[in-house]
Amino acid sequence: MCADSRHCRSTNIFKHDLIYKGAVSMIIRDGHIHTPFCPHGSADTLASYCEQAISLGLKTITFAEHAPLPAGFSDPTPNQDSAMAASDLNAYLQETRAIKKEYAHALDVLIGLEVDYIFGYEAETKALLNEVGPSLDDSILSVHFLKVGGHYRCIDYSPEEFAAIAADLGSTNALYALYYDTVLASICADLGPYKPKRIGHITLCKKFQKLYQAEQSFGQEISAILAAIHENGLQLDYNYAGLTKPYCGESYPPKEIALQAKTMGIPLVYGSDAHSAAGLRMF
Ligand SMILES: [Zn+2]
Ligand SMILES: [Zn+2]
Repeated sequence: MCADSRHCRSTNIFKHDLIYKGAVSMIIRDGHIHTPFCPHGSADTLASYCEQAISLGLKTITFAEHAPLPAGFSDPTPNQDSAMAASDLNAYLQETRAIKKEYAHALDVLIGLEVDYIFGYEAETKALLNEVGPSLDDSILSVHFLKVGGHYRCIDYSPEEFAAIAADLGSTNALYALYYDTVLASICADLGPYKPKRIGHITLCKKFQKLYQAEQSFGQEISAILAAIHENGLQLDYNYAGLTKPYCGESYPPKEIALQAKTMGIPLVYGSDAHSAAGLRMF
């Protein structure tokens, strides 16, 4: 990896051998970027992300901030900072619209959201999408929360919380199984005409795999997820954030699954999942 991101121009991409190099012909688009509206991210400005994108040789980016959580859902994380506040949504749309105009000469900025799929909150999520959907160019549907014994838990918050959830479910295997079940449910859910077209980080349950590994490979579950993505005409978020996570060390999904998806004809869209301008980079 380049210490100086200014040197990581598009000609230098795909240096990382963990990445399936044929997944996308050339990285000229980053479809998963966070913003200063993220309460667990950085305060880096929208302009600083655009400048960084241009310096990397990108042509298109999507600002995909965590959408406000659905009405009535209580964020289970300690600081309740998983998503943008509902009261910030209008300002987010206004500011991304303004930056889209400002950078139109150099960069195609798509206005998007990373929407949570929360099992049991489909109606509320659909209502949110019906309201905000017409303002969006692009969006992602992701699973971060699982319903465990009547309570919602965030699986990627910390290794400790991951271990506690696995213990409550009986095993790491059981956590993985529930994660893949929920991802499959997200693909099949009726979220209305503005349902996101791209499914986020389908193997996020592997974020802490160097600490807690499942014994099963879940090949069948992954195949079922890819088949459902294909049938529904959706895209896959080829998310590299896992490569920067000390206990993960691979993309979401890993390259074998990216290859499988590509072979099936599923469009893969590179996503850095950057939460800072410096996090917007190539691998
Ligand atoms: Zn985030
Ligand atoms: Zn996410």
